[in-house]
Amino acid sequence: MKVGTDMRFGSAKPFRRGLRTVVTGGAGFIGSHLCDQLIQRGDTVICVDNLFTGAMRNIRPLLNHPNFSFYHHDIREPLNISGQVDRIYNLACPASPRHYQRDPIATMKTCVTGASNVLELALLKASRVLQASTSEVYGDPEIHPQPESYVGHVNPIGPRACYDEGKRAAETLFFDYHRVHGLQIKVARIFNTYGPRMLENDGRVVSNFIVQALRGAPITIYGSGRQTRSFCFVDDLVGGLELLMESPPEITGPCNLGNPQEFTIEEIARKVIAHSRSISELHHRSLPQDDPQRRKPMIGKAADTLGWRPKVDIDKGLEATIAYFSLSMETNSRDATVASIDTARAARARLPRRRQGRVQTTPAAQAKQEDM
Ligand code: NAD
Ligand code: UDP
Repeated sequence: MKVGTDMRFGSAKPFRRGLRTVVTGGAGFIGSHLCDQLIQRGDTVICVDNLFTGAMRNIRPLLNHPNFSFYHHDIREPLNISGQVDRIYNLACPASPRHYQRDPIATMKTCVTGASNVLELALLKASRVLQASTSEVYGDPEIHPQPESYVGHVNPIGPRACYDEGKRAAETLFFDYHRVHGLQIKVARIFNTYGPRMLENDGRVVSNFIVQALRGAPITIYGSGRQTRSFCFVDDLVGGLELLMESPPEITGPCNLGNPQEFTIEEIARKVIAHSRSISELHHRSLPQDDPQRRKPMIGKAADTLGWRPKVDIDKGLEATIAYFSLSMETNSRDATVASIDTARAARARLPRRRQGRVQTTPAAQAKQEDM
């Protein structure tokens, strides 16, 4: 039985018979890039999303594709999908601290009840299932860089716990379904990922800094700016997710997926200012509670078992992301579909010179931006 609103518009027959793949969270930032990739490879894709942080514009180009369908559905409710399902990618969950803390109880339930519903579907359909877990399972790590064997340092009662502990519990459920039912599982621990299609009000550091830089607004550095993160461009990450999903059954993970190039937050701010030719200045704000001080993945496992390594360095990735935001802010378009390095570069080249470095804004909009 189909659930939710079926927004499948195409009527033609599928091009060829590939895998039938469910992507929960498929209208979100990473999920929509994954849907693009799976459709290109010939899969039939069923995108399940409640649009909490996702957006129809991310998947609009896919809606006319005969192999793509969208179900407006919340994974906290059981998932009923008719017919065979070969693969399930479980990405549904807000990923930005701003958004996952907006309704922390919903976040925890999405992580745990949602994972349980996804696993039940996988069991029913005998499908392989991948969990989008996170480097947040390591919390504020005492070991640096972080290997998969590190069990983490998480505050269970802090404001980030709804996400961190929710994702940890989801990993537990995945491994128990594997041990108890023999389900084929894959657990990816995703480190900070960025790129086109992040929301303008996403609240994560790369999108915040780019939007602020393009508006000429102050760049909001939380704390000293000496805390570090390691940033992976979305195309690399999606490639890693696919490789992990298609790896031999004995490979369950957890497997770190991220770019080990580590930067301080202040370094990222300075790079964004330089690449966007912005006049923005750095403004310090207080550091949010439990904000991890350092984060960098060890990716030996992904390299050895999947042959995966990220290819896009931070400068190229930032250029592509800045070009995406320049275009979407310039045109105020809800349909900006610039999604790859090449199309982003071409779009940037088309922009009028005066708009490349900075987008003018009103004082009120600047004040709002400072609050991001
Ligand atoms: P995102 O917020 O852009 O996407 C999440 C998607 O899930 C959105 O489309 C949202 O509407 C949907 N969603 C949320 N709750 C749902 C629910 N209850 N039912 C159905 N749909 C729901 O975030 P993203 O950056 O694309 O992250 C995707 C996944 O990857 C998340 O599970 C996240 O935890 C994980 N992850 C992301 C990062 C990162 O840096 N982007 C890092 C680690 C892990
Ligand atoms: N951060 C910042 N300014 C911002 C947004 C984030 O200095 O406008 C910092 C934040 O405090 C954290 C880092 O950037 O130290 C990464 O934050 P993000 O929310 O992107 O990811 P996460 O903390 O989940 O890794």
